[in-house]
Amino acid sequence: MTAKVYLVGAGPGDPELLTVKALRVLRTADIVLHDGLISEEILQIARSTAQLIDVGKRVGKKRLTQDAINRMLVELSGCANIIVRLKGGDPSIFGRAAEEMSALREAGIEFEIVPGITAATAAAAQAGITLTDRKSAAGVVFLTAQQAAGKGRTNLARYASQDCTLAIYMPSGHYREISDDLIAAGLRPDTPCLVIANASRQNQELLWTNVLGLQSLVVPESPALIIVGSVARSRDEVLAFNTIRTVEPLASWRENAIPKANGAQ
Ligand code: SAH
Repeated sequence: MTAKVYLVGAGPGDPELLTVKALRVLRTADIVLHDGLISEEILQIARSTAQLIDVGKRVGKKRLTQDAINRMLVELSGCANIIVRLKGGDPSIFGRAAEEMSALREAGIEFEIVPGITAATAAAAQAGITLTDRKSAAGVVFLTAQQAAGKGRTNLARYASQDCTLAIYMPSGHYREISDDLIAAGLRPDTPCLVIANASRQNQELLWTNVLGLQSLVVPESPALIIVGSVARSRDEVLAFNTIRTVEPLASWRENAIPKANGAQ
């Protein structure tokens, strides 16, 4: 059997933010290995005969290791034609796709990447801001607050600069430490910040604050990310400082917006 593995970006959660290619590939998959946070609406796009495997699930206290997922991908390629490895956001951004790609390469298995909308761009769209601005933000850096086990927290000082936007993924509740690091790196304490949890999902929460305000943050539900920089200023004076707002996703979550596979549309 000649198998092909597609590493597919599922976007931030709203099924309407899938690419047309992701939709097509998902509809043809024999097996879908998916991360834990992929929404039910997106999983339902797969054929009813497709085997869905949640590789983000805890087995007892433990999650599957990355090595185990890599092995699973290679082994399943022996018994199916089309395997979709479905990841949140974009597979190339903090998605561990590099490790899976090298396991597939080593085993001589064909694969293709289908990009997705990453959380930072989805978050910016939902908040009505941009990530760059030709007058005030010359660039944007995608950062993770957490590094691989054993490496600890990212050295944010290396990246902080007043005219560059930081999109900080995986803050994992460490808002106070992130604030300390940004101030120590020379960022002004009043530099605007936007914290967004569950971007594009029905339980989306937005919170406008500044670098100092991150210290006293009531931690929003995960997954969340922080956008730091002048672009993150709220346009809406009504939004109270450090108050979490549940803001309806911009693109309305239309029921049955995406017809189901199997000719059910
Ligand atoms: N590949 C993904 C990122 C995976 S790392 C992407 O491109 O978006 C997981 C982190 O992504 C989370 O801890 C959080 O920081 C961020 N994230 C993913 N989905 C999100 C969402 N809907 N809203 C806010 N942050 C999200």
